[in-house]
Amino acid sequence: MTDKPEAIQEGIYLLKGQGKGSHNYLIRAAYRNVLIDSGLDQNFLHLEKQLISLGLKVKDVDVVINTHEHVDHIGSNRYFQESALIAAHRFAATKITLEDHYVTLYRSGDRNEVPLRIHLWLENRSLFDLGSHTLEVIHTPGHTSGSICIYEFKTKIVFSGDTVFAGGTLSYIAESGSVGDYINSITRLEARKISMIFPGHGEICRNPEQDLSQAIVNAKKLLQGEEAVSASL
Ligand SMILES: [Zn+2]
Repeated sequence: MTDKPEAIQEGIYLLKGQGKGSHNYLIRAAYRNVLIDSGLDQNFLHLEKQLISLGLKVKDVDVVINTHEHVDHIGSNRYFQESALIAAHRFAATKITLEDHYVTLYRSGDRNEVPLRIHLWLENRSLFDLGSHTLEVIHTPGHTSGSICIYEFKTKIVFSGDTVFAGGTLSYIAESGSVGDYINSITRLEARKISMIFPGHGEICRNPEQDLSQAIVNAKKLLQGEEAVSASL
């Protein structure tokens, strides 16, 4: 069964991931079509169907931005990398292109594994001017060192990958992550005007202020060795 893409803002669609796969967000902008995260390899057909229902083919996606280097967000990159530019923060790009599978957890399952490519190595405050939409990269290390959030100027929405979830639930702090970095990253996000947060899994954050401050509370508990609310992602 195919989940229908959900129009969440003008020109922005939520393409829900199945199982442990991340959600994908499609931005149909004036100049280009951008996909945020490609999701799990085994969800690719599902993703393709969702794109088709919007009248798009895989090759109509111009840019794929990975929010970080984990397999459930990069797994379908290989279906896009011949026709689209793939972008990720340089700390994520290093791990993906050097095939650091211990960290990315990536396995294509193919005997002849296709090397993943990252065409655009992003920095904090890199910007995509798409005409109708402007996407700013905010480097938000914590969950991993290469995690980014993407801020859209006009709508003031944030695509948060595994950095912020509804209710401030924490994802686990992965091998290259840091709880201290996480708290700093969330604090920097708090300085922004944010209307809504679209995370890589679960529900949309409709109370960003509340969710961000709860995320900091949860992370501080982790620092102090107390058990915090933690998602198994
Ligand atoms: Zn992750």
